[in-house]
Amino acid sequence: MTFEELNLTPAILKAVTACGYTTPTPIQQQAIPVVMTGSDLIATAQTGTGKTAAFVLPALQRLSTPSSVPGKGPRVLVLTPTRELAGQCIDAARSYGRGARLRCGSILGGMPYREQLRLLSAPVDLIVATPGRLLDHLERGSIALNRLEMLVLDEADRMLDMGFSEDMEKIVSAAPQERQTLMFTATMGTTVLKLAEKMLRNPQRIEL
Ligand code: AMP
Repeated sequence: MTFEELNLTPAILKAVTACGYTTPTPIQQQAIPVVMTGSDLIATAQTGTGKTAAFVLPALQRLSTPSSVPGKGPRVLVLTPTRELAGQCIDAARSYGRGARLRCGSILGGMPYREQLRLLSAPVDLIVATPGRLLDHLERGSIALNRLEMLVLDEADRMLDMGFSEDMEKIVSAAPQERQTLMFTATMGTTVLKLAEKMLRNPQRIEL
């Protein structure tokens, strides 16, 4: 399978080619068509398999059409367990979204508020966040999730292990019911499945 066959926009295909990618990885081949139908998804994928592009590419595709919902909150929100993973994710969004004039950034614990408040002061397309700090902004009223179309829980099992379960639930309860939710996890244990049951609606399941 080629990236062309995944029906991505010419701008995204160009960016992918510029990254030197020639063939989609197995997780990309399976997940991208599912995500583009708008369905919820739970997928097992290890780091290094290309899972970031599996959700970032269809997220960018969605962002290529404007939102009709007024406000400033993000249209895509990616929750990750660590700052390091968040950094990789935002770098990926920036390189695959090159030329798309996206406003994106990260909201991370342990980082200064000033820049984060500046990011949130104008309409933002995509945010990558760690759950604690994102919840902090929600509670202070500095972020709204009324425009949210796609929520991604990256390394969901690790977020559970790190004790973010309650934070994730509070964040999800502030998100619109009408949204697409994608969950990526290295393992599919009972706590992950329970979380999926609470947060996903009729998800497609991909196990690699
Ligand atoms: P990830 O699993 O998302 O952390 O990605 C692992 C690495 O694979 C990253 O450095 C990506 O830039 C790279 N990558 C992602 N998709 C592809 C692809 N289709 N072809 C070649 N490299 C890729």
